[in-house]
Amino acid sequence: MIRSTVAHVDLDALQANFRAIRSFLGAAAPAGSTAPDIIAVVKANAYGHGAERVALALEGAGAGMLACADIEEGIVLRRAGVQIPILVFGALSVSDLDGLVEFHLTPTISTPGAARAVQELARRRGVTLGYHLKVDTGMHRLGFRHDNLQRTLPPLLASPNLRLEAVYTHFACADVPESDGLADQRLRFEQALGTVASLAGGQAVRRHAANSAALLRDSRVWYDAVRPGLLLYGIVPPPLMATIPLEPVMSLTSRVVAVKGLRPGEGVGYGWQYTADSPRTIAVVPAGYADGLDLRLGGRGFVLIRGTRARVVGAVSMDMMTVDVTDLDAVEPGDEVVLLGRQGAEPWQQIDAREAAGWIGTIPWEIVCRLGTRIERRYTGDVREAAGRAAGRRGPA
Ligand SMILES: *Cc1c(COP(=O)(O)O)cnc(C)c1O
Repeated sequence: MIRSTVAHVDLDALQANFRAIRSFLGAAAPAGSTAPDIIAVVKANAYGHGAERVALALEGAGAGMLACADIEEGIVLRRAGVQIPILVFGALSVSDLDGLVEFHLTPTISTPGAARAVQELARRRGVTLGYHLKVDTGMHRLGFRHDNLQRTLPPLLASPNLRLEAVYTHFACADVPESDGLADQRLRFEQALGTVASLAGGQAVRRHAANSAALLRDSRVWYDAVRPGLLLYGIVPPPLMATIPLEPVMSLTSRVVAVKGLRPGEGVGYGWQYTADSPRTIAVVPAGYADGLDLRLGGRGFVLIRGTRARVVGAVSMDMMTVDVTDLDAVEPGDEVVLLGRQGAEPWQQIDAREAAGWIGTIPWEIVCRLGTRIERRYTGDVREAAGRAAGRRGPA
């Protein structure tokens, strides 16, 4: 049994995006330096696309490392069969840490408390754990403050069971071109790298900093690796533009379940937020806010039906929404509805996450991440992995 609202995840597009980013980095790397590695970010269920299949496809495309938000996400990736290193971004002070050892995950150490807890875990388990050190250069969320490392780092660096592998930071304003934040944070990071190098006694450590937006804006922040998330999924962070040829990985489709006439003066849905001023035809689409579709789409958003844009009218409800199809040719139950994706070759026959975010005043990350668990993800592409599954690894075909 399959619901009519389905998220299609094109793993070929994902792998093509990965390769396009890699070529971009290779072509634009400054003369004499090698292109940075790609740490592919698959946190939050791979931005709603489904962490397991996405992670395996990225591994198959050649990613050297994946990154996720917490230990639990990392365990899901290992159980799916991911072999490459997995970096856990999150703070670990209140986590169940054993998974780090059992599932070979690379922790970020971003607070003195996490340093003590992970050292204690490694001592108890009799292992040495490699870690990435996070430096706060201005986000003011996680990380050791850049201007206090002389005092805070020595106890961490002296931890007998911990081995420093990389130093990283995260930019607050990489997608705000009018802000000086990116440049300011870059300079603080470079100073911090100097401090770490002197305290760590010349030990070679890798450096990384750039999310999608920073990667697009400034090759000086590429260092040894970049950490794109959104770009991998074929979405360019607004308001930036990219010359990298990317394709949206996810599309979201449904089917009309009912068509209904509205007489002048009649309202549709909860609160009658839309009232017809002339005879209207309304199509009912079986997808609502329980599926992650925003309430604010009512009166602001569009879907594609029969290659035409139809406006969402009335309040989006839990399990369905209503669209005005008065101007379309005889819409019928069963007609395909595209909520994200393409329905024809013309520019207006495509709706992407960036446009949908713009309608309701949010960001494209949120549009894809919150797509509900009730929506089935149907995968195409990445034949290698599909074959592995058909051979009986797990799940229905
Ligand atoms: C989410 C995240 C990224 C990726 O961000 P995008 O804007 O999606 O490219 C990179 N680094 C860290 C630390 C993150 O949390």
